[in-house]
Amino acid sequence: MTTEHTTAATRSTVYGYPRQGQNRELKKAVEGYWKGRVTADALRATAAGLRRDTWRQLSEAGIDEVPTGDFSYYDHVLDTSVMVGAVPDRHREAVAADPLDGYFAMARGTQDAAPLEMTKWFDTNYHYLVPELGPDTVFAANSAKQVAELDEAVALGLTARPVLVGPVTYLLLAKPAPGVAADFEPLTLLDRLLPVYAEVLADLRAAGAEWVQLDEPALVQDRTPADLDAVARAYTQLGGLADRPGLLVASYFDRLGDALPVLARTPIDGLALDFTDAAAANLDDLAAAGGLPGRRLVAGVVDGRNIWINDYEKSLATLATLLGLAGRVDVATSCSLLHVPLDTAAEEEIDPEILRWLAFARQKTAEVATLARGLAEGTDAIADEIAANRADLTSRADSPVTYDPAVQARADAVRDADGRRSQPYEVRAAAQRAHLGLPLLPTTTIGSFPQTDELRAARADLRTGRIDSAGYDERIRKEIAEVISYQERTGIDVLVHGEPERNDMVQYFAERLSGYLATRHGWVQSYGTRYVRPPVLAGDISRPEPMTVGWTTYAQSLTDRPVKGMLTGPVTMLAWSFVRDDQPLGDTARQVALALRDEVDDLESAGISVIQVDEPALRETLPLRAAGRPAYLAWATEAFRLSTSGVRPDTQIHTHMCYAEFGDIVQAIDDLDADVISLEAARSHMQVAHELADHGYPREAGPGVYDIHSPRVPSVRETASLLRTGLEAIPSERLWVNPDCGLKTRGWPETRASLENLVAAARTVRDEL
Ligand code: GLN
Ligand code: ZN
Repeated sequence: MTTEHTTAATRSTVYGYPRQGQNRELKKAVEGYWKGRVTADALRATAAGLRRDTWRQLSEAGIDEVPTGDFSYYDHVLDTSVMVGAVPDRHREAVAADPLDGYFAMARGTQDAAPLEMTKWFDTNYHYLVPELGPDTVFAANSAKQVAELDEAVALGLTARPVLVGPVTYLLLAKPAPGVAADFEPLTLLDRLLPVYAEVLADLRAAGAEWVQLDEPALVQDRTPADLDAVARAYTQLGGLADRPGLLVASYFDRLGDALPVLARTPIDGLALDFTDAAAANLDDLAAAGGLPGRRLVAGVVDGRNIWINDYEKSLATLATLLGLAGRVDVATSCSLLHVPLDTAAEEEIDPEILRWLAFARQKTAEVATLARGLAEGTDAIADEIAANRADLTSRADSPVTYDPAVQARADAVRDADGRRSQPYEVRAAAQRAHLGLPLLPTTTIGSFPQTDELRAARADLRTGRIDSAGYDERIRKEIAEVISYQERTGIDVLVHGEPERNDMVQYFAERLSGYLATRHGWVQSYGTRYVRPPVLAGDISRPEPMTVGWTTYAQSLTDRPVKGMLTGPVTMLAWSFVRDDQPLGDTARQVALALRDEVDDLESAGISVIQVDEPALRETLPLRAAGRPAYLAWATEAFRLSTSGVRPDTQIHTHMCYAEFGDIVQAIDDLDADVISLEAARSHMQVAHELADHGYPREAGPGVYDIHSPRVPSVRETASLLRTGLEAIPSERLWVNPDCGLKTRGWPETRASLENLVAAARTVRDEL
């Protein structure tokens, strides 16, 4: 590399942008293509139009260098698998026959070939398709998509920087292909993969790329010395290539840590680091490593994954410090803007006084451009913007929406004892046994029953005014009555009301808690064509009135069996929302917990004896680095206990989690002190039951025996066999019988058949005891 890459003035850039378009045009086009209603050419044209719009918008907002290659029909990690030729054998034929259809086959599966597994992209709510690799994997470069998208941006006259998933992160995200030994380490393929990256870099250089960005977010996790060796090897080799573009290695979501000095010693030309609070240590680490003299530093000072406006003065101070640490400092968002909605301008229903505190992708882009101008031309050049920003921040800090003294006072007054049940588990268990009178191996479900077309129609009718809220309530009551009567007929022991009134397990509560904000168009990609609209934890949280008591007591009035009250726990409420950036997460969790505690207490007073507080997200928000985990688990479990410990000993508290792996949080599960926990376990053949037993978990547990992710109906025999496996780990007095998760995504026919089999299996195994 020559100095041409390092002496230029400050530039502004972002690493990626939401793909969907203002009206989710991409979702519509892709799904239309799957249904045969949109041709491949039309799909390509829609996609190209969306890319063009994005680049124009970025450039008009003042972004000097636009990203390319971040666009995806489905997922950028899947795109990377295609780029390096890592197509699983079972999909090769489909890909050869038609690359686009083959691509979607890998993403979604076909009749004969399972899709790639999907998992969470670090600690975000985006899911990627896991590369499948083995010792026989043969990589082959396919740079067509990257080159084509670079060409498109260049044709618009823009300075563009292709963005690739870096080779080390790609391998660290991969898993052994089916049939390959489970202990196979994909990172051992690095030397085979690097020539493919070299070829792609050469192709991009030939197409005019001055810089290429290689994303290595896996390096913000704790890495072994062997991993760091791989980093050094990869970037020494790629950096040593003749005629190549400038190499910018990007990291985000946390501090780069040990990988920072390792990368700094390689001949790369620039580093992109996250300088938001989550990764504040990068500043000291960079200084300690001697900075990046003569090289490019891209400073992610605008948070790319929350929705709050930036604090300009704070960012400018950071940028000023960084100036002394690198040859050139550019301004960017901390990560791709994939994780935030598109534009606050679409939110006409949000109070303008609140809207000014919010920044979605478009607003963040403008922030980056402004900060870059301030850095390049001096803060006087952006004096007006700084003044306006200060006023917006003050408006937020001083607003009664943000700050509710009563909520703060209540949270401050919480003492350790408030988060403890009045009696130890053994005493509670005896009281609950007497109170509930359940059989051995009691049967229950996780909460939701199938969301039928009628229910969706009722919601739509309410929205459009075709029915009023009394008419809507009537339809919900009818559904609850049917679900209760169905469960009684089927012989389930602890019933649920079925959650027909809930559009979403977080949104339902967010709409009923003060301090929460809903967006109308704030869609964020969860995976593929699935988008979610996370609510915003905007200010101090309180519960103006009961949220679930009416529906739950109505359900209870229809039956003599216990009906389980159903709430979403504090950690999950945070995990699936945009969180505040002006107070620690633990403080927000505590406020949510206190609001839920009121609901739990009200359910008990209304005669509900079993209350489930779902925490499916407990494991997913585990900090990326081990050092942050104890503190997280401490406030997370405290919040759960705070929400559930106000009840009598004979009220039974359940919780629920659905993950394949719980091994590393068994202690935290224990610390929740719930009386009963239901967990996903069917696919892993009750592995979690053994993990709980090995830990000495003393309470009741229901490892799932029915995989609700598939329409398949498990037979009585196999369900009974899973139960017997469960009994090897958990004694019969403490084993529950339930599905893996809620049934809302299932249809009624398979739900009916499966639950009948589940009850029959429980009876069969009870008779053997
Ligand atoms: N109670 C919720 C339901 O049954 C739980 C959903 C979940 O764990 N994701 O739908
Ligand atoms: Zn679940």
